[in-house]
Amino acid sequence: MKKPGTERGGKQFEGRGVVLKPGREKSVHNRHQWIFSGAIQSFPPAFTDGKIYPVFSAGGLLVGYGYFNRKCSLTGRLVSLGQTGPEEAIRKNLTKAIRLREKVYGQAEACRLVNGESDSLPGLVVDRYQPGLVIQISTLGMENLKPLMVQLLSELIKPAFIYEKSMVPSRKEEGLEEKEGLLTGQLPEPLIINEQGIKFKVYLTGAQKTGFFLDQREMRQLVREIAAEKKVLDGFSYTGGFALSALKGQASRVDLVDSSHQALDLARENMALNVFRDSSFRLINQDMFAFLNEQPKLPYDLVILDPPAFAKKKADQRQASRAYQRLNYLAMSRMKAESFLLTFSCSYYINRELFQKIIFQAALQAGRQVKIITSNRQAYDHPVSIFHPESDYLKGFLLYIS
Ligand code: SAH
Repeated sequence: MKKPGTERGGKQFEGRGVVLKPGREKSVHNRHQWIFSGAIQSFPPAFTDGKIYPVFSAGGLLVGYGYFNRKCSLTGRLVSLGQTGPEEAIRKNLTKAIRLREKVYGQAEACRLVNGESDSLPGLVVDRYQPGLVIQISTLGMENLKPLMVQLLSELIKPAFIYEKSMVPSRKEEGLEEKEGLLTGQLPEPLIINEQGIKFKVYLTGAQKTGFFLDQREMRQLVREIAAEKKVLDGFSYTGGFALSALKGQASRVDLVDSSHQALDLARENMALNVFRDSSFRLINQDMFAFLNEQPKLPYDLVILDPPAFAKKKADQRQASRAYQRLNYLAMSRMKAESFLLTFSCSYYINRELFQKIIFQAALQAGRQVKIITSNRQAYDHPVSIFHPESDYLKGFLLYIS
């Protein structure tokens, strides 16, 4: 791998690219793709937000190519680190991303093919839901690259459809509207995906995320492995990913709790699709905190808590910590002796260390013995580049409560 910035960009770029402040090329040398506004010395004349420009160190060395949006404090994201031209870098990175998933999952029907910065494709997520693809674009620069991405994905994968689901609040900051719709082909709704022998219906329109929580794949497998003969509570169940995995693993029964009745309606459809008996599960449309609070004792052998991100920004950290603590306290204080708690946080701003501290506080408050059996992270198709730890967001602990 060539070290970025080892060659002069050449006269043709001088004065036409974005120039960094002295020393600020260091993060690029560390292979980080983000450029904050404070690192930028100058923009070229007639600069346009969202277009790709060469990026130079203060000394005039070409360090990469990236797109910029002056509306955002995270102003620039590099699509190429070094001398490779942007289009070639994008094609290479996309091909590499797809190959990685083939290596870890083979031809999985549902998996994440591109995970933004982790795959050196900032602002882009691509999920495969056989027979098509769902893409999510979060930045102006990637929005401009959409025609290229659609062309490359069509060429490399030949999907039956490409559906855009760019429903991410961060688009607002970029000056973009949230949007969703079909870009190519025809969408057969609902899609039915098969994950290790379990079928799930996925409606792309109106769904959360890109339709399914792909990031919990290995955790669904874990639940399946440990669920035999257990009474299970799937807290924050969405469409029943964990509940169905538990039943597939011979759980004796499962209760699903979610505040969204649409999610539970789809969970019911999923139960029928997999021919699980009505008597093996119960759907509870309630706030999870209230559900836990109103029962003095929980009869479950395994409790799963997979709430939405309580901390969406750094400023939420304190309040979110309290919410995680309360939730875990409520569960721990009511759980049976010698039972399991599988608890998650998908808030990037609650890191693993902090989450463990929160669990410690909850255990202390509940007056229970708590042991970590294993700790986990997001699925294999959501890799974290060692140069971009910001992509690490989902953490989970399997705990033994006695
Ligand atoms: N475990 C799921 C994903 C959970 S996503 C899976 O693996 O597929 C979080 C879910 O929590 C969403 O379905 C959302 O509707 C639900 N939710 C959000 N706040 C809630 C609350 N206070 N009580 C119960 N459910 C809630």
